[in-house]
Amino acid sequence: MIWVDLDETLVHSLERPGSKRRTMLVFEGGKLWSLARPGAREFLGALRQLAARDSSEVRLLTTALQAYACQANDVFKFDFTPAQIVAREQWYGCGMPQADRVDHLGVLIDNVSAPMAHIDKCEYLGIDARRLVLVPDYRGHPFDRFPKNWPAVVAQVKAILRGNSMMDDLNAVRGDR
Ligand SMILES: [Mg+2]
Repeated sequence: MIWVDLDETLVHSLERPGSKRRTMLVFEGGKLWSLARPGAREFLGALRQLAARDSSEVRLLTTALQAYACQANDVFKFDFTPAQIVAREQWYGCGMPQADRVDHLGVLIDNVSAPMAHIDKCEYLGIDARRLVLVPDYRGHPFDRFPKNWPAVVAQVKAILRGNSMMDDLNAVRGDR
């Protein structure tokens, strides 16, 4: 599966209105003013096409609250189903992230300046840093370069997934012996 982070990867949110371009998200437990990253929906579309080839899917993995993640998903039309949204509540038990190893062949896309979150998420998925694809932080800048740069991110994910199928082939060959 392909796992995508929310904050500073797909959206940027503030606790105050900021510029007029921002949308107010109201959810149980809070209120934030948010912007969707330019190109985010096209990026998700390309990732979904890629995942579909392996009968897989794209999921959201965030340390943010579920109510906020679901609201951002609805408002910005990211098209995740509720089951595809894995938020803080699902993977933090007793305040500590759980190392559940839920998807050791997964790929994680996260923003670059969140090293602690990278560790927690990789442990949760059961993957190492070679399966982590980093994108520059989105800070709400109108000229964010993501619309130009996301195809290179998709290509990176594709290369990692190709490695998965090569491993499958190798295991199949070994199994035949
Ligand atoms: Mg983030």
